[in-house]
Order: sequence, then structure tokens, then C-alpha cells
Amino acid sequence: MRIAVVGLGAVGSAALRFLAQQGHEAVGYEQFVRGHTRGSSHGESRIYRLTYADPHYTRLMREAFPLWQALQAEASEELIVPCGVLWLGDANDPELNAIASALQSEGVPYEWLDSASLSERFPALRIEARERALFQREGGFLRASACVEANLRLAEAHGAVIREQTRVTRIDPQPSGVWLETESGERERYDRVLLTAGAWLPKLLPSLNLPLTVTRQTYAYFAVRPDAEPIFAPAQMPVWIEATRHFYGFPCDGRQAGVKVAWHRLGEVQDPDAPARPVDEADLAPLRECLARRLPDVLPKALSAATCLYTNAPDERFILQPLPDEPRMWLVSACSGHGFKFSILNAWRAVQHLTA
Ligand SMILES: Cc1cc2nc3c(=O)[nH]c(=O)nc-3n(C[C@H](O)[C@H](O)[C@H](O)COP(=O)(O)OP(=O)(O)OC[C@H]3O[C@@H](n4cnc5c(N)ncnc54)[C@H](O)[C@@H]3O)c2cc1C
Repeated sequence: MRIAVVGLGAVGSAALRFLAQQGHEAVGYEQFVRGHTRGSSHGESRIYRLTYADPHYTRLMREAFPLWQALQAEASEELIVPCGVLWLGDANDPELNAIASALQSEGVPYEWLDSASLSERFPALRIEARERALFQREGGFLRASACVEANLRLAEAHGAVIREQTRVTRIDPQPSGVWLETESGERERYDRVLLTAGAWLPKLLPSLNLPLTVTRQTYAYFAVRPDAEPIFAPAQMPVWIEATRHFYGFPCDGRQAGVKVAWHRLGEVQDPDAPARPVDEADLAPLRECLARRLPDVLPKALSAATCLYTNAPDERFILQPLPDEPRMWLVSACSGHGFKFSILNAWRAVQHLTA
């Protein structure tokens, strides 16, 4: 079949590779250059984890992980850094307890660490005496930009065509096929179309009134005290997340200087076509407070910082559905700030539906 994928971020790049692998005539449209930094999937790292309070996501992660492993094997490069995941919080934090119950119900092993055992095991990190930490080893981070590029490169190797700097402006379903029109006025016919336009989905499909809001998010890399660098390597430090407060961070990723820290909470509403306000002191100050609490060997100096978009669905769920009365077109969005880890699974499922 002749199948178009509109938007080549985490979801679209994976879908394009699956389609091309299955022998379809796959064409991917991307409005910017590949690997651009205006959407949601750029950067060195995204957390993957089984640790969710809702076991539904634990099960999804178990399904998604073999797909990431297969991508890594086919790409012959390191895309998964399995450093483990650590949750930190008050001893009676409700989220921490809910995660522990969900892991138990799913039969996933985990460990509790107190302040002394945490310092011994992961010397870069601190908790207070009234707190505890939950460590789960089947987590870590995915090399986000490299995953997207690996999918695109392999899709091309399997015969896919990638149209960069080509914005799709109109979708016109006809009995003869679905016609896509681009900004330059070109029209092409497809048997099926997968819409993976991330933060631009509401603009691409205004008549659907999708319940999505797009927000500006930020993250920053901070310098590590030079004599402490070894304890920030992934072999000695997991990805960490503060329960309830939702600050989180990574070990040194080996590519970008320093350590990355961010805050998972909704930022200000952002038009994806407008330039995002650059990272400023108001963004960095809460991150510094968190560093002072958790990572005493990290210096307050931000080495670099970036913005990124969340596409938020009301219940932090994902979109995976056909267009109303139009089974030749499917919508997929890895929404709500936690979708990268599941993007490959959502792409796989969408491809199965679309080509059934
Ligand atoms: C700061 C930050 C931290 C995050 N941390 C995590 C994490 O730790 N773990 C996790 O699992 N998830 C995380 N996420 C969420 C995850 O990164 C996103 O859910 C995921 O990357 C979304 O991918 P996407 O393919 O849906 O969107 P995108 O990557 O934005 O891709 C959509 C693409 O469509 C293109 N496009 C749009 N409209 C058109 C058009 N009309 N024509 C052609 N092309 C078009 C865009 O240019 C874009 O390239 C984080 C997100 C952010 C912003």
C-alpha cells in the first residue's frame, strides 16, 4: 500500500520504519529538517520506566521495551542506557506507596533504600532521614534524538522516502484515496495516512476539536564538581524522580556536559508555530532548589538549557484512533510529557490497525 506519515518525531519516525519494513510504499512528511528542536522528541535523554502508580503503564512499558531493544539491535548503536530508576520522597508519600503497590501487583521487583544505604549505593544523591527511596532496576533512559534518527535512517534503508521541510496543509479524503496537499500546493494520493503531528495535531485537524493543550517546558544541564564526576556516570547513578513534587534528573549522558534536571509540571500554553520564550531565571531557580536538596556535588551554574513542547491530553493518556468515519486515516499522539517511552509501541499498534 502507499502510506503517508505526517510528522516525523518519536511516533512518526518509528511508524515510518515499521511501514517500510513491512514492504509498504512509505512516505514521511516533516515540516522542519529531521532532528529539529521545535517539537517534543529532541535531546539526549527520555526516561523509560516500569514504575507507575497505574499498572496499565507498567504493562505497556513491558510491551514497548522489546521494540526499543529491536531498534537498538538493528541500528547497531547504543540507544538504551539501563541505569535503573530511583523515586525519592517522604516515607509515607502516597505516590511512592501507590507505585510500590502497583509494582507488587505486577510482580516487578524493587528495593527500598534509606538515607544511609542510598548514600552508599548512589553517592551522588541525597535523601533526608524522614524520607526513603524506591529503586527499580528495569529502567533508565533512551537516547531520544538518536532513537528518532535511527528510525528514520532504517526506514530509508528499507525504502521509505522522507520529505523534509514539507508541511502538509490539507487532507482531502476522496473515494479514490486520501490526498495530501503541502504548503507549496503539491497534491499526492495515498491509500492510508497516519497523522503523527504532535503539538500541531489540533491545527492540522481543527474540525475535530481535539482536547489537547500545548505547553512550553524546559530543562537544563548543570555543572558537576570536577572531582565528583565519576559518581555521576550511569554505572553509579540512576535516573531519579521526586515523588509528588516531580523534579527529575539523569546521570551524565556522556554526550552533553553536566547533568540534566527538569520539572514535570505544566508550563505556560504555547503556540507551536511561535518561538518559545528562551529559558530564564524563573525556569532555573526551582531546579537549583531541587539540586541543593538532592545533588550536593552539582554546581548552580547552568551549562545549557532548552525548551520543548508537551501536548497534553486531559487524563495524560495517548491518542490512538481512526478519524471519525474514516478508517483510512489514524491519529497517534504520544501525549502528556511521558509518551516517549511508549511512542514505539503506539506507532507499532497504529501501523497494525492501519494496514489490517
Ligand atoms: C521536556 C520534555 C521532557 C520529556 N520527558 C519524557 C520522559 O522522560 N519520558 C517519556 O517517556 N516522555 C517524555 N517526554 C514526552 C515525549 O518526549 C513526547 O511525548 C514525545 O516525544 C512526542 O512525540 P511525537 O512524535 O508525538 O511529537 P513530536 O516529536 O513533536 O513530532 C511531531 C512532528 O510532526 C511534525 N509536524 C507537525 N505538523 C506537521 C505538518 N503539518 N506537516 C509535516 N510535519 C508536521 C513536527 O515538526 C514534529 O517533528 C518529554 C517531553 C518533553 C517536552
